[in-house]
Amino acid sequence: MQRNKGKLKEGEWIVLWEEKRRHLLKLERDKIFYYNKGHLPHNEIIGKEEGTTLVSSHGGKLLALRPTFSDYILEMPRGAQIIYPKDIGVILVWADIYEGAKVIEAGIGSGALTIALLKAVGEKGIVVSYEVRENFASRALKNIEEFIGKRENHILKLKDIYNGIEEENFDRIILDLPEPWRVVEYTIKALRPGGIFLSYSPTIIQAKKTVSALKNISCYAFIETFEILLRPWQIENLSVRPYHRMVAHTAFITCARRIRTEIKENKFLKDELSEEVEENLESIF
Ligand code: SAH
Repeated sequence: MQRNKGKLKEGEWIVLWEEKRRHLLKLERDKIFYYNKGHLPHNEIIGKEEGTTLVSSHGGKLLALRPTFSDYILEMPRGAQIIYPKDIGVILVWADIYEGAKVIEAGIGSGALTIALLKAVGEKGIVVSYEVRENFASRALKNIEEFIGKRENHILKLKDIYNGIEEENFDRIILDLPEPWRVVEYTIKALRPGGIFLSYSPTIIQAKKTVSALKNISCYAFIETFEILLRPWQIENLSVRPYHRMVAHTAFITCARRIRTEIKENKFLKDELSEEVEENLESIF
């Protein structure tokens, strides 16, 4: 998908917003959008400015906008569970995904993280995705292509990453797999010294096993595990408070920095709060 501006055109993805619900669709001439409040012909949307409110056959109001990255990944067809937008933002910064970086990821799932990685590394970088399930891979490739177009610098490997990693000296590796600890030994060759390992796991047992594997191998420093809690607030008249509901848990993120030497006593293993967090706490209390 091109990031277009101006009037909404045929062939573009758009989002029709009810008050809180979102419908993702591709504008096609003579097609009709149906939902529980009637229907709306695509022809009535084509040619309108972004941000226009349209009315369905049953009087439902629909706000037409182009999808943001987050709208798109939350609504695109999914094979596997995606990494949530709140986590993707942090992953890009904590794993320090930079323009031109060579990144390995596993598995591709629905392609949500892959889109973010490809955008972040730009045309000069490389993203290699390992995936075992062919049906997930083809769904993911379609999702990626629809949003950012075909990318020459994206390599898909239909391979089980538990059997090894073919790449060497890459800059970053991001794992979103059931058993990431099984990959740790291969990351020593796959990552260059100074490279960053990041793993995303829903349960703390998975995070714990991954941290143990990273510590055992002694080639990693600054190992840390954290989670991101995003708590939205209601701000309306005197009701100024957190919403009663939130997404309470998605996953734990474990990060580590690949260092060069194999040392017995790795004093950079991180078991305590970072200096930055400690300083902030000190200034609060
Ligand atoms: N990060 C993805 C979601 C990944 S879901 C997203 O944001 O959309 C986990 C994926 O890992 C699934 O597609 C699963 O098929 C794949 N997978 C599981 N074990 C694997 C292995 N050993 N090697 C490669 N891929 C694997």
